[in-house]
Amino acid sequence: MNYKSSRGGGLTVAGAEAIRSGIAVDGGLYVPSTLPVLPVPTGTGVGYIELATTVLAAVLPDYTPEELRQCSAAAYAADKFDVSDTVPLVPVGKRHVLELWHGPTSAFKDMALQIMPHLMSLALKKTAESSDMLILVATSGDTGKAALEGFRDVPRTRILVFYPSEGVSEVQRSQMVTQDGNNVGVVAVEGNFDDAQTGVKKIFSSVQMRELMAKKNLKLSSANSINWGRLAPQIAYYFSAYQSLCKTGKILCGAPVNFVVPTGNFGNILAGYYAKQMGLPIHRLICASNDNNVLTDFLRTGVYDRNRPFHQTISPSMDILISSNLERLLYHATDGDTGKVSSWMGQLNATGRYAIDAQTLAKIQATFWADWASTDASLATIRQVWQQQRYLLDPHTAVAWNVAEVYEAQTQDVTPTVVLSTASPFKFADTVLQALLPDQPVSVDASLVLLTRLSELTGWSIPSGLAGLAAKEVKHRQKCRVDTMPEVVAYFVENRLDSSGK
Ligand SMILES: *Cc1c(COP(=O)(O)O)cnc(C)c1O
Repeated sequence: MNYKSSRGGGLTVAGAEAIRSGIAVDGGLYVPSTLPVLPVPTGTGVGYIELATTVLAAVLPDYTPEELRQCSAAAYAADKFDVSDTVPLVPVGKRHVLELWHGPTSAFKDMALQIMPHLMSLALKKTAESSDMLILVATSGDTGKAALEGFRDVPRTRILVFYPSEGVSEVQRSQMVTQDGNNVGVVAVEGNFDDAQTGVKKIFSSVQMRELMAKKNLKLSSANSINWGRLAPQIAYYFSAYQSLCKTGKILCGAPVNFVVPTGNFGNILAGYYAKQMGLPIHRLICASNDNNVLTDFLRTGVYDRNRPFHQTISPSMDILISSNLERLLYHATDGDTGKVSSWMGQLNATGRYAIDAQTLAKIQATFWADWASTDASLATIRQVWQQQRYLLDPHTAVAWNVAEVYEAQTQDVTPTVVLSTASPFKFADTVLQALLPDQPVSVDASLVLLTRLSELTGWSIPSGLAGLAAKEVKHRQKCRVDTMPEVVAYFVENRLDSSGK
């Protein structure tokens, strides 16, 4: 099986080339030409590394199963994940919560970013790419840290992360400035996320920068969630959740299940769609948004319109108005009508809006359902679920839980439901404490102290990656302005000669 652009341009490529290049030459996203069907998981079950190997081997046939086993083993090793079952499925009331945050950075992005660098490293070999890769990232929080942990000390790669000096939480900042690794750089940019993002985009399009890179035998790349190497590993945990339900006798093997997904860039939920195409018995994929509810409107009406106020919410990783991975769903729902997809994406670019036809919408609605939850509703959900079930939700997962309740009440659907949990509640300790103690003021600038308070209040333990943060040595103190970012990149290129730090 191969990959082609969702917009019809360029060549059909193998998986390694899709991963190496990230995006197709015509600006489209790489989509699989066909998808193999896998057997439905049974109660017998295999470990996560084995399961991930099977799923990846099905979608990346140009990698050998042995290569993929090694990648999976390195990514999901016992010293990286703080639980033996990698992605535990926890019964909470009548639902099940799939905890995707037991990796090194306590957010679900680890599921993809722990393995993607290994897939990238192999892709360089397979495509006979002679340059090494410099990964540039502008981050609003979770992605930066997960990418740093994933790429650190991976052969033939280096990573430089820019985070906005205003706009990441104290936990997130501490996670990044204490980063270990010989091929990593972390720099604060004066300004907000948009400033950092603008600076990185300029570097990507600079001819001068490209020449400098070429001299050092480097190419720029990104760790963005539109890369197939980030999407493919996420398919595996849908199979894992299903296997857990069979194993514990919660469902009969072969019976349908629903998944509720807290959604931002549409990568997580799209992996569920691919799992369904690959034969996993999924009845509905429920797309949960926060106040930035552009996807709710789209999935209900077929009109995508980003012309609306941007809300900064308590679930910041879902504060997105352009969900890039939706383009892939449009491709599949139109049976690969690249003319239509290109036209819609052109309209989105030019006017911020497009409307799909009734037939395509009906096809999408046969699987997807959508709603959103406000900040107040999410806070109330965190409190209620704690009081009634003694289970702690982070603010992103709370959005999904809230939408799951609305879905079940409105549709009377009794299909077993899995709620995907995308972050440890400790990563957003200030918000979670505020939800549990609505009458007490919680200071936001002492977040590291708040981890301990949350742990004392609930009896839940702080994830190991966050527990030691306060004591960890700060290694990255560099700051810059947007206009000096190119100089920072140049310095990094000159002074870090290879990924072993020599
Ligand atoms: C990135 C992220 C999301 C959104 O996932 P998408 O794949 O972008 O839809 C949700 N929750 C958390 C905690 C995240 O870090």
